[in-house]
Amino acid sequence: MKQQDTKQTAKPAEKVTFNIDKEKNFSEWFTEIIRAAELADLRNNIKGFLVFQPWSVLCMEAMYDYYERDLQKRGHKPHWFPALVPEKNLKQEAEHVEGFVPEVFWVTETGNKEKLEEKYALRPTSETVFYPMLAIWIRSYKDLPYRTYQRAQVWRYETKATRPFLRSREFYWIETHNAFATKEDAYQNVLGDMETAERVLHGIFGVPFIFFQRPQWDKFAGADDTFAADTIMPDGKIIQQPSTHMLGHHFAKAFNEKFTDESGKEQLVYNTTCGPCISRMFASVIAFHGDNRGLRFPFEIAPVQIIIVPIAAHKNKDVLKTAEKLRDDLFDEGYRVEIDSSDKMPGEKFFFWEMKGVPIRLELGPKELESKELILYRRDTEKKTKIKISNLIDEIEKNSEELSANLKKQADEKFKNIIRDANDRKELEKIVNDRGFARANFCSIGLEGAKCAETIEKEFSATVRGKHVGKEEQPFGNKKCIICGKPAKAVVYIGKQY
Ligand SMILES: [Zn+2]
Repeated sequence: MKQQDTKQTAKPAEKVTFNIDKEKNFSEWFTEIIRAAELADLRNNIKGFLVFQPWSVLCMEAMYDYYERDLQKRGHKPHWFPALVPEKNLKQEAEHVEGFVPEVFWVTETGNKEKLEEKYALRPTSETVFYPMLAIWIRSYKDLPYRTYQRAQVWRYETKATRPFLRSREFYWIETHNAFATKEDAYQNVLGDMETAERVLHGIFGVPFIFFQRPQWDKFAGADDTFAADTIMPDGKIIQQPSTHMLGHHFAKAFNEKFTDESGKEQLVYNTTCGPCISRMFASVIAFHGDNRGLRFPFEIAPVQIIIVPIAAHKNKDVLKTAEKLRDDLFDEGYRVEIDSSDKMPGEKFFFWEMKGVPIRLELGPKELESKELILYRRDTEKKTKIKISNLIDEIEKNSEELSANLKKQADEKFKNIIRDANDRKELEKIVNDRGFARANFCSIGLEGAKCAETIEKEFSATVRGKHVGKEEQPFGNKKCIICGKPAKAVVYIGKQY
């Protein structure tokens, strides 16, 4: 490709290159890409609170849309609830109090030192404000199932080291809160949550994961059962993605959520809740798809999907004019598209937008204009092809589909061989230290197994993630718990957590 143009009057601007071995130095890669691609500015002066910049916000907005659309299709209706939770609400369900109160930010007084009439928590999660309202709204079996959700920020005083997008004190998520007449209906909804995660997080965002049934000592505060998706970062550490919880009657009892059944009898509803965290999913999106040269995004959620780079525009006025017309046409078709008419050299522009992860680049110069053609560059294959301007929309459709499928395939490939069997402590240690999930016999994921899990935590700094959902796995080998040696009742997965 001819890109030297000695007549270009532009000052030689700073060359934007990015080259960090992601697999080897993931931590450095992650920190540097946040800065270079302007995902978040860490110079904000409240610890654990980030300033999200347009390049992450545009992507997360698209992620919210896909997730919410799927929830709405399943009958969830959006709500906006207040950010403040009265102390008495938060303290109504005993296990919930124990789990969340230590992390709460309290709001207690006004600017002129007046104590508020009661103490409020900045919501750490919203069960205790949704369920009192559901108790008012639900009267009879005809009102059920009742499915809600909100997109919201929540605040938790995280004491461990904070990390942008992965662990902070304010995060952006969706929370669903639902009520059902029967336990079966509630479990069906929990299953539905896992299917949503498969369709959206894996199907569209291209992030592979495994759903685990969490051990009893590690479930959501106030739940009967917790199911959570785990995926892995390039450094081999596990990160939890959406989780869904069977709350049983815990909150229905605490908030008097009752309905009249078909025979006129009063009954408690069954609640379920699900919490996909968009900012954390974003972390997985950039970690899975990025490469040594910067970000890569599935087309559907890319902050900018198409960048148009005019070449040698000063030589022919029609270059910029045509580029602008293409931009407008693509915009009207619903694409997120921009034009880079800055005075940087073309090569510099290419580096920059490749680092930012824009899936498709269109190059247009006097030569292309003459032959009514364009150069189309794809970020995933790093290949250029010549296309006819008249075929542009078809080409974008075809290439964007291929690109997203390709990124997903590459992510699945990375995820494929991370599970290995551990037959004894030595093997367990080796696997968890070598970027993987260890699959092992375990005495129990009931409370009686908690002691062995503590041993694993202490000796290997690893956690028992639970049982693989959708797989009935039988103990293998000597069929004894890898820690205490008692007969194993479960096969569990163990790994190092973020
Ligand atoms: Zn054991």
